[in-house]
Amino acid sequence: MKTVYLDNNATTRVAPEVVDAMVPYFSELYGNPSSAHRFGGQVAGKLNEARERVAALLGAEPGEILFTSCGTESDNTAVMSALATNPGKRHVVTSRVEHPAIRTLGQHLAERGYEVAEVPVDGEGMLDMDRYAGSLRPDTAVVSLMWANNETGVIFPVEEAARMARDQEILFHTDAVQIAGKVPIRLKDSAIDMLSISGHKLHAPKGIGVLYVRKGTKFSPYLIGGHQERGRRGGTENTASIIGLGKACELAGANMERENTEVRRLRDKLETGLTDRIPNSKVNGGDAKRLPNTTSISFEFVEGESILLMMDEFGICASSGSACTSGSLQPSHVLRAMGIPFTMAHGSIRFSLSVYNTEEEIDFVIDKLPPIIERLRSLSPYWDPSKAA
Ligand code: PLP
Repeated sequence: MKTVYLDNNATTRVAPEVVDAMVPYFSELYGNPSSAHRFGGQVAGKLNEARERVAALLGAEPGEILFTSCGTESDNTAVMSALATNPGKRHVVTSRVEHPAIRTLGQHLAERGYEVAEVPVDGEGMLDMDRYAGSLRPDTAVVSLMWANNETGVIFPVEEAARMARDQEILFHTDAVQIAGKVPIRLKDSAIDMLSISGHKLHAPKGIGVLYVRKGTKFSPYLIGGHQERGRRGGTENTASIIGLGKACELAGANMERENTEVRRLRDKLETGLTDRIPNSKVNGGDAKRLPNTTSISFEFVEGESILLMMDEFGICASSGSACTSGSLQPSHVLRAMGIPFTMAHGSIRFSLSVYNTEEEIDFVIDKLPPIIERLRSLSPYWDPSKAA
C-alpha cells in the first residue's frame, strides 16, 4: 500500500541529498573534530561550513549558531540561560499554545517558585497583543513565544513582540521549529535574542537542533562539559547530523519559493476540497496568517482518533488534535486555548504537507475522507443530518 504522508509537522523525510552528504561522516570521515590531527581537523572544517549554511538560512552570523540535540534542548537552553544570567528576575512570559518543550518547562519553573505568565490567544489562534504588552514587567527575565504553531500553523508577530521586549530590556526567545525554512528569516534586522530550530522538521535527521544566540547576549551553558561549541555546549558534536542539517538548510533556502507556491496551493486545495464536501467542518485559525503547509480541520461530532484509524487503512498519515491523557481523549491545549467547542475540537485533524507531496495524493485524500466522516457520523448518537451546515 502506498503511504500518503501528511504529517510533516511531526517529522519529515530526510532529503536524499542530506543522506548523501552525511554518509561519509559515518564511514571514512569519522574523526573527532576536536582532535589535533588532520583526520579530525577536516571534519571541523565541515562543521564550520554547516554552521555557515544554517546562519545563511536564518540571516545570522555563523558564530551565533550553536548546535544542540533537538528543538526541545534549544528551547530549554534559551529559557534556562536567560534565568541563569538574570538571577534577580523571576518572571517568565510565554503563551497558552506553546509546544510542551516550553509549556512543560514553564510548569516545571512555576513549581520552583518562578512566576510564569501564559498570554492567551483569540478564536483564530492569534496572540492577544494587548495582554502581551500588559504582561511585560521590570522583573521579566525572558519572553518565549513560538513563531508558528505546530498544530494550526498560525504565525505570531514575533518580530513586533521582540521589539516590545527589547524596549524594556527583556530577553526574547522564539521557538521557530515549525517556521524555519518556510518563510524568510533575517535575524540581523530583528530584535530576537535567541531562536530554536530542529533538524527533523526540515528534512534533516532527528536528534539535531540549533539555538541561535545573538552576539553579545549573556549566555549560560545548559550542558556543562568540554569546550565544544566554544564552551557553550559540552559534548562531542553529532558530526554527521550537523553536516546533514547544513545541507538541509541550503535545500530549504532553495525550496522556499516552492513551499509558498506549490505546497500552499496543494494545502489550499485539500482544505477547500474537504470543507466543501464535508458538512459541519471548519479550518481552525483559517482567517489568521498561517504556514503554507499546515491545516487543522475540525469535523463536528466525530472522534479524531477514529478518523486517523480509518485513514490509516488507506495509508493516509496525519495527526489528531487530541491527546490521550489519563485514559480520556482531551482536545489539545491549543484548540482549547482558542475556545473551539468540544464537539468540534474532538474531531480535529492536522494535515501538514511538504515539497514531496503530489497533486494525486491530495486528490486521493479528498476522495477518501468524506465517506469516512459520513460513516463515523452515521454511528454517532449526536449527529443529526437534518442540521448539516
Ligand atoms: N517546538 C515545536 C513548535 C515543535 O513542533 C517541536 C516538535 O514537534 C519541538 C519544539 C520539539 O522539537 P524536537 O522534536 O526536535 O525536540
